[in-house]
Amino acid sequence: MSKKKAVSLVCATCGQGDFDHNEDKSWVKCNNCNREYSGGIDELAEFNQNRIQTAVNDVGQNLLEDFTKKMESTFKNSKHIKFKRR
Ligand SMILES: [Zn+2]
Repeated sequence: MSKKKAVSLVCATCGQGDFDHNEDKSWVKCNNCNREYSGGIDELAEFNQNRIQTAVNDVGQNLLEDFTKKMESTFKNSKHIKFKRR
């Protein structure tokens, strides 16, 4: 089973993305603050879960805003189509 991670991981302590790790990534160390992750890449990924989720939420919200604005300007002269703002 392979996991794909599109978002790069950052250190939970300092927020930097520069890591040292052993061959199978079962041990990871931050090069910036020297924090060691004894749980390896999985532990690091867990710390990053919230960050990834937040990024997805932000992008999703922006896309929705853009889409709504576009639709409003496209149909602004129409009497039949109205958009409700939240
Ligand atoms: Zn760090």
